[in-house]
Amino acid sequence: MTDSLPTVGFIGLGSMGSGMTRNLQRAGYPLVVNDLRREAADDLIANGARWADTAAEVAANSDLVITMLPTPRHVADAVSGAHGILDGIADGGTWIDMSTSVPEVANAVRASTTGRGLRILDAPVSGMSVGAASGMLQIFIGGDAVDVARLRPVFEAMGDHERILHVGGHGAGYAVKLMINQLWFSHLIATAEVLSIGVAAGVDLGVLREALVASPANSNFVENDVLSILDNGDYDEGFALALACKDLGLSIDLSRAVGVPAELSALVEQQYRRAKAMYGDRAGEMAPFKLYEDLLPEPLRRSDEAAA
Ligand code: NAD
Repeated sequence: MTDSLPTVGFIGLGSMGSGMTRNLQRAGYPLVVNDLRREAADDLIANGARWADTAAEVAANSDLVITMLPTPRHVADAVSGAHGILDGIADGGTWIDMSTSVPEVANAVRASTTGRGLRILDAPVSGMSVGAASGMLQIFIGGDAVDVARLRPVFEAMGDHERILHVGGHGAGYAVKLMINQLWFSHLIATAEVLSIGVAAGVDLGVLREALVASPANSNFVENDVLSILDNGDYDEGFALALACKDLGLSIDLSRAVGVPAELSALVEQQYRRAKAMYGDRAGEMAPFKLYEDLLPEPLRRSDEAAA
């Protein structure tokens, strides 16, 4: 069975890429991998993956190449930089960018490779490092339907079959992903604010949250995600604040590019940047919650009883 599956080249074995490659490997896909940190590939290699020293070598030795890198600049380096994917990929080859990024990098690649027949898709994901590890990512694919259909089994090895969505043409995947993050970060700030005001006004935290959950103001963040902080003091270091700020910046760039004002998003971005300055690049994506908690006598935590 393994012989009939295409070889997947994978560049970027960080919080997300490590889980995604493990799941591709479990599904039987032969892998060729690369990362700036050689040690990130140790387990994969122990299980049969092949290491490549450069992105060009990854592309030359695989049937399709996936990038899962922090920012558009990293993606551009890996694709168009020295010894990049474009130096190794065959004419007609496939490159899928699963990073949270913007269409400009792929657009420049398309413009500089006309006639080579490259198949390029954007397929960013939601689901955190936990979703990457469990193979339950939500995947938003931008590109041609024929490519999406051909590559669906590869996506299914990494994502939740019900939530692998073809959301439009090139760039649509990036746009959907950025808007999801923008709204989620906005929910986080709004939730931190109302819980802090309510608790400072003397309302019990658990009572306040339950009232919100039972009200028209409920959200997935209030009902589920905030419990990571309220019950465990966990601000999700699996997604670094530096990357969250990157996403918010890209989202503001997108709003500017399409001419839609983004007053609320801009404020949320500034609060995230303040949190990054205060708590550090590596603090978790939910650390901006602390901007409000720090104004209270103690952090917002549910009692053991409420959490049970
Ligand atoms: P990460 O920083 O944990 O991992 C990135 C990896 O890329 C690192 O191992 C780094 O060494 C490697 N790298 C950087 N430049 C490279 C290059 N030129 N060549 C080869 N390797 C290179 O980042 P992550 O959390 O895995 O995020 C990856 C992407 O996924 C980002 O765009 C992020 O916004 C997005 N994302 C992350 C999460 C999450 O919860 N962590 C969730 C959804 C989407």
